Amino acid sequence: METSWAKLSQQISDCAACALCEGCTQKIPGQGDPSAPLMLIGEAPGEQEDRQGLAFVGAAGQLLTKMLEAIQITRESVYICNTVKCRPPNNRTPLPEETAACEPFLLAQWALVSPKVVLLLGSTAVRCVLGESYRITRCRGQWFERNGVAIMATYHPAALLRDQGRKREAWEDLKQVRQKLDTLGLYQALQRGEP
Ligand code: SF4
Repeated sequence: METSWAKLSQQISDCAACALCEGCTQKIPGQGDPSAPLMLIGEAPGEQEDRQGLAFVGAAGQLLTKMLEAIQITRESVYICNTVKCRPPNNRTPLPEETAACEPFLLAQWALVSPKVVLLLGSTAVRCVLGESYRITRCRGQWFERNGVAIMATYHPAALLRDQGRKREAWEDLKQVRQKLDTLGLYQALQRGEP
């Protein structure tokens, strides 16, 4: 899908390609720096996101902000979105056919942002980007590569809120992301207070 941000925004707004649009208040495309070197992909909008129209603004989003701050990266300097742009009923996991229906939008966002590093947050993003056979527990903490883009997976912040014991592993993953960005000469630009 070749597009511009304006066209993409309209296409997402008009989309009725899966049943998720029937229960959501509004579409949540994502937000952040549209040409960020680091792109984060989560699962789906939740209640707060559905209400506020922004990705990752609920409790999990607040934890994500802290996680980024822990490696001195501001939310404004990255691009954040989800595998699906509509809130699933009762925050259930999106079905494979729903992520498949929404995938063209994710791919279009990926093409427009053109990130150098992608961080996948949780199992749905992992299956959507790496493939159905990949499991977060097995692939987190490892680097993957797709068309020259370095891809790391870690736990979704919502999973970290449920299971604090995973925070240490997530911290190790984030340190690897910081190191990769540093190696690519991109870290300074993402740091708080840097031009
Ligand atoms: S989740 Fe994606 S594919 Fe489904 S209706 Fe919403 S925007 Fe369209």
